[in-house]
Amino acid sequence: MKRIRLIVMSKMHLVILFCIVLMTTIVALNLGSHAGFLKTLGNSIRGMDNRSGGRVAIVIDDFGFNGGGTKEMLALNIPITCAVLPFSEYTKTDSEMIMSKGHEIIIHLPMEPHHGDPKWLGEKGIRGGLTTEKIEEIVREAVEENPYAVGVNNHMGSKATEDRRIIETIIKILKEKNMFILDSKTTMHSVVKEVALSYEVPYIERSVFLDNVKDKAYIKKQIKQLGEAALLNGDAVAIGHVGPEGGVVTAEAIKEMIPELEAMGIQFVYLSQLVKAY
Ligand SMILES: [Zn+2]
Repeated sequence: MKRIRLIVMSKMHLVILFCIVLMTTIVALNLGSHAGFLKTLGNSIRGMDNRSGGRVAIVIDDFGFNGGGTKEMLALNIPITCAVLPFSEYTKTDSEMIMSKGHEIIIHLPMEPHHGDPKWLGEKGIRGGLTTEKIEEIVREAVEENPYAVGVNNHMGSKATEDRRIIETIIKILKEKNMFILDSKTTMHSVVKEVALSYEVPYIERSVFLDNVKDKAYIKKQIKQLGEAALLNGDAVAIGHVGPEGGVVTAEAIKEMIPELEAMGIQFVYLSQLVKAY
């Protein structure tokens, strides 16, 4: 009998011991996951700090032709930097409408691409075949035509932005007029940054093209990517379009994404607020 009781007692001890081990393990695991939770919380609080610094500038190209989506784009209640084509019958009226809505203007200088229809450049497109004097004359005329413009970016220009002679001619005028340059980066071999830096002209470059594909879901995905780039780098620049390349679809996509980006902590600003002075 005694032996049996002893065995029973040992079994009970074993059960108790098992329970203690189990409880200890559970507590340890809980502490572990609690520590993990605290770590995650800490990371997200730090993330939120970064988020408060994320700034985005939305640049919309191809104003100046009263293109599709012009009114919708200007009705957005965030700062929009409008790149206006020079020498068009709508350059002045579009510019005045943009200013009346409180947005910002840069000149959208037509520049020679490697590929594409030369007609897209218009009569006063900047081409490698022009003399330096002629290029200077065109740039001066474009700048003087639009008194509201605070900077310049390129319309097309994959060939012209690789040409140091052309870029130096433009940059020297921007230096004189206290204007900045946005490189739309239509080529990997652009010399705009290098030349702007050497002349100490404020420079900025495009981070994301919004409407390479004219599809609202695609454009919204690009806008999300823009927000993420701003969280990562502190700021980011998008380029979209009025007219056939984007227009109403791009304006709607931006409008629908504003709350999501604001929820990410993104602040919308004019391009001039992001330009770095050298
Ligand atoms: Zn353009």
